[in-house]
Amino acid sequence: MEKLQNYINGNWSISSEDQTTPVINPATQEVLGRVPIGPNTAKDLDSAVNHAHAAYLEWRNVPVMRRVQPLYKLKTLLEENSEEISRLITLECGKTIHESRAELQRAIENVETACATPTLIQSEFSENIARGVDEFMIRQPLGVCGCIAPFNFPGMIPFWFLPYAIACGNSFVLKPSEKVPLTMMRVFELMEDIELPKGLVSLVHGGKETVDAMLEHPKVKAISFVGSTPVARYIYSQGAKYGKRVQAQGGAKNPVVIMPDADLDVTSKIIADSVFGCAGQRCLAASNIITVSDVSGTIKESLFEAAKLKRTGYGLDELVDMGPVISSQSKSRVEMLIDRGEREGAEVILDGRNCSIKGFETGNFLHPTILEGLPLNGDLVKTEIFGPVMSLLPMNSLEQALEFINGNNYGNMACIFTSSGASARKFRNEADAGNIGINIGVAAPMAQFPFSGWNDSFFGDLHGQGRHGIEFFTQTKVVIERWPKEWTRKF
Ligand code: NAD
Repeated sequence: MEKLQNYINGNWSISSEDQTTPVINPATQEVLGRVPIGPNTAKDLDSAVNHAHAAYLEWRNVPVMRRVQPLYKLKTLLEENSEEISRLITLECGKTIHESRAELQRAIENVETACATPTLIQSEFSENIARGVDEFMIRQPLGVCGCIAPFNFPGMIPFWFLPYAIACGNSFVLKPSEKVPLTMMRVFELMEDIELPKGLVSLVHGGKETVDAMLEHPKVKAISFVGSTPVARYIYSQGAKYGKRVQAQGGAKNPVVIMPDADLDVTSKIIADSVFGCAGQRCLAASNIITVSDVSGTIKESLFEAAKLKRTGYGLDELVDMGPVISSQSKSRVEMLIDRGEREGAEVILDGRNCSIKGFETGNFLHPTILEGLPLNGDLVKTEIFGPVMSLLPMNSLEQALEFINGNNYGNMACIFTSSGASARKFRNEADAGNIGINIGVAAPMAQFPFSGWNDSFFGDLHGQGRHGIEFFTQTKVVIERWPKEWTRKF
């Protein structure tokens, strides 16, 4: 199997790094390609950044109306090739084809939003701050911007950043996850036809060595990271050490509260989709399901039925609801965490371990799992499982639920299901999370809103998407000017 190529300075080229890691179809274990991974990938990164810097010096002076024109073409190309790209997402990442199509749609919406950059980048002007003196602020690009992406949304997450970065006048270097590099390679092939200057966007494969080279490179001015919390924390602190602007999105453990006045049938279906969608490998997957007071018994049955209905299988099968997890290690880890839950005192009321799918016996499949009775002071209620596991946590009141939620270190998403405006208002006001769902199971912000994780789910200030994207990818310059009449030369 051939080593996958980098895209640097408008060309596909082979890394000098000999070590590789396989890209594996999680449903079949087929090797789809080999990613260069090792110390020499730092040279690839250096080359990409130097070309990106040269491209930036020209691109920054291209009028913003012209800079967004390639994005319009990109939107059309992504739409025309959406089925092929969606299949590629499923092939390397495992999620269902429906989930891949939805993911790509979110990517396209970010391209559309970034097309509004000529308006979004407009700034402020104050006339006569003193007699005859005006002051205004302009937004200028930063330079080379780097992006380090996770495995779980190979088609969407780079688009939280790329379109905004280049529309604002920067160049962009992407390091995709070594587990799922193929989707973005295909997208970069398509981008060859949108008439971007050579070197403006690059794709460099690798792992930690590539990331460290990006963090240390003096010409990289900003880094957008999405991945697990320990790595997010590392990127943020190293980025600070090397003087970079960093936005680092981390992991999560998302709670959902079901109040006694919620519509139980609708609620349980939505919650099952939230927990088991993408096999639980979403940073916005619901995980701790808090049932308040008398709702517990009925909702338990209803969630159990909704979970049992999920058909696990190969993601390219249109009838399948849940694909495999990303790797055999990941499957073993999830099973090990379910074991740990049992040891902590939970009852496994629906057991998804030891799952085997006919025709795909080697795949990393798990069926939906439901745990009941985990101790609230235990480890597992605070651990990101990143697999199809629901924990049912009965509580007595909304106040108790909020206290539990706010005691968690993460803060990516918190949701409530209720028909009471007062409960909903209290929840949105008091829950410590950056993305709140009210009768919504996956509170994923649309492209025009920031993806707003808090606490250990985010390190930085400005988030991805929308206006935050414009602010992150520009630096402000304030100009104060005076034009004394007596200095005007008379002709
Ligand atoms: P990960 O942290 O293992 O990897 C993310 C990226 O960091 C990859 O490109 C990888 O090559 C690189 N990397 C890994 N270890 C590194 C190290 N030691 N030093 C430098 N770079 C390193 O994450 P993952 O498993 O690919 O993705 C799953 C995680 O991402 C979950 O925790 C999930 O919650 C999180 N996530 C968060 C969001 C969000 O918006 N907050 C969105 C998607 C995923």
